[in-house]
Amino acid sequence: MPNLVAIVGRPNVGKSTLFNRLTQSRKAIVSDTAGTTRDRQYGKCQWNGQEFSIVDTGGWVVKSDDIFEGAIREQVKVATEEADLVLFLVDVETGLTDWDEDVATILRRAKLPVILVANKVDNSGEAYEAAEFYKLGLGDPQCISAATGGGTGDLLDVVVATL
Ligand code: GDP
Ligand code: MG
Repeated sequence: MPNLVAIVGRPNVGKSTLFNRLTQSRKAIVSDTAGTTRDRQYGKCQWNGQEFSIVDTGGWVVKSDDIFEGAIREQVKVATEEADLVLFLVDVETGLTDWDEDVATILRRAKLPVILVANKVDNSGEAYEAAEFYKLGLGDPQCISAATGGGTGDLLDVVVATL
């Protein structure tokens, strides 16, 4: 059974875009409308001769803060019960939100490795915008652009080194 990497993060942060890029598929629906990916998607990724599975935890159907609360718990439950490693996505376009802080609090308590990933760094000049995510207490953010693929090779290096 290959190692499982879970992609976790609030709606619209780019989870499905990253999933599709890492699995080189279009299985996960990418949408501007938050809460589009309802089901979990599983795929495979190979990097430097190491194979692992990835799950896009999706599952956001955000109609109210109450439902969001349940959705966080469901996502993190999937991640902590099944996964060996969590990719926690935040995005520099929106910046740090209360939702990110809530997810970070839960992930810090979970006993599994977490890689903090700052998405939507579409050009290197935007990397400084990721500095605020240090506040989440999950270490250095890995800057990527899931849309262009920028930084994803370095991210995969860290993933296989952590697994
Ligand atoms: P999810 O809800 O977390 O699964 O997010 P999606 O993958 O559906 O993406 C939400 C929106 O962000 C879509 O409009 C994507 O095209 C956009 N997006 C995803 N990754 C990037 C990125 O690296 N840069 C930019 N500029 N937009 C992105
Ligand atoms: Mg999605």
